[in-house]
Amino acid sequence: MKFRRTVPLSIGVLVILGALVFAQSGPVVEKMPKSKNFDIPEDLDDSVKKLLKECETEMEQRLEDIKNFKEHQDKMMKAAKKAAQKAPKCALAQFYLCIGYQGEDKDKLALKAIDKGLKLKPDFYELEVERADILVREEKEDKALKIYDKVIEEHPDYYYTYEAKFSFMLKQKKWKEALEMLNKILSHPHLERLDKNLKEFKPILESEVKGLNLPIKAEGPHYIVDTDVSQEYADFILKHAETIWKAYNKVFKSNKMKKGEKFPITIFANRQSYLNYGGPPQSAGFFHPTLQRVVFIKSSREGTFTNTLYHELFHQFLSAQKVALPYWFNEGHADFFGGFKLNEAKNQMVCYTNSVRTNTIRQAVQSGRAAPLSQLITMTRDEYYNPQTMGRNYAQGWSFVYFLWRAENGKYTGYVKKYFSLMKKKKYSLKEMYQKVFARNIGTIEQAWQAFVRRGFK
Ligand SMILES: [Zn+2]
Repeated sequence: MKFRRTVPLSIGVLVILGALVFAQSGPVVEKMPKSKNFDIPEDLDDSVKKLLKECETEMEQRLEDIKNFKEHQDKMMKAAKKAAQKAPKCALAQFYLCIGYQGEDKDKLALKAIDKGLKLKPDFYELEVERADILVREEKEDKALKIYDKVIEEHPDYYYTYEAKFSFMLKQKKWKEALEMLNKILSHPHLERLDKNLKEFKPILESEVKGLNLPIKAEGPHYIVDTDVSQEYADFILKHAETIWKAYNKVFKSNKMKKGEKFPITIFANRQSYLNYGGPPQSAGFFHPTLQRVVFIKSSREGTFTNTLYHELFHQFLSAQKVALPYWFNEGHADFFGGFKLNEAKNQMVCYTNSVRTNTIRQAVQSGRAAPLSQLITMTRDEYYNPQTMGRNYAQGWSFVYFLWRAENGKYTGYVKKYFSLMKKKKYSLKEMYQKVFARNIGTIEQAWQAFVRRGFK
């Protein structure tokens, strides 16, 4: 059933160093058999049957057509409200209401629908699992866990309970229990196509359960480096990390790490130990948002090394703030900081253009192949990481972020600040944020940005 994932599972994102990104994350489940609770009751009015059918379609569409999530969500809600009104004894209508309310962040109303639905149909166990999800959000973890375990015991075929308990355990940083659920998910008989990221996550999670057991450590105020390279190397990484942290913090204050909690960085001396840890074979490193860990192989190419380090550490830094990040914003800023360089004498970071991106975007602008900014700013994950255009998107994302911060003595910084503050409110879609911040002046901004790129980022 594809009604899940009102909030996408963050474990879906493995941000790989360089160009590799494992970001393909369609719905985990293609075709799940639904329980009888989802049969549309025969004795209902035809008009209500039609409404319930519409709810089902729109619920699935929300996740397939994620860009128009809100449109599908609204249609589903409208149909569910009508159905619940016309057929007050129908538990299924309450189910769709409860899903819809959760999509609108109205958990209290969702709970009402759950109570009502279960009163009408006490064996509608899918509603119980919805209740557990809400209990997790209310931080009533013990109660939630009881429900998950009960439903797993009584209805082992209901796939979603495993997924819900899995992400719950990840949130709790209970890796062993999370792994147990992941194994259940991966061996579930009804799965036709699995999220590739889940499969790649398994060996990494297994390593977390076993422990890393790396011999060398360096620890600063914000970072812990674990490595099997050398103490000197660990100290070197730590110095870079702590200094770039100050640059991140200057731009994105209020880092919400808990007191005493530090960002983990893990560096392996060679490819084999990296692969043993679970590093994806084609990659040289990644940031994993669930584990909050940046992992990579020691690079021999000093030039691109700090670029990658500052890039990945930025993803890590911002993920601690727990905001859903638009792709251009997240990758663009990661590349923005990737271009920084350490001034050893002053022990501080200096901003430069990102040499990995400059040529690509200059050529794209000159040949008219750059995407319109309105498109770049509203790209979904699949669009941004589309292998055919990914290189250009990264370059364009970087150039736009660099432009917003640096062009014409900071004339455009207000846009990026406003955008980030809206993002923190967590209630707007990509399109809505675009509308609120950029849409009105997009013509002027686009011209100024293009001219900036043509002038050589000056
Ligand atoms: Zn990145």
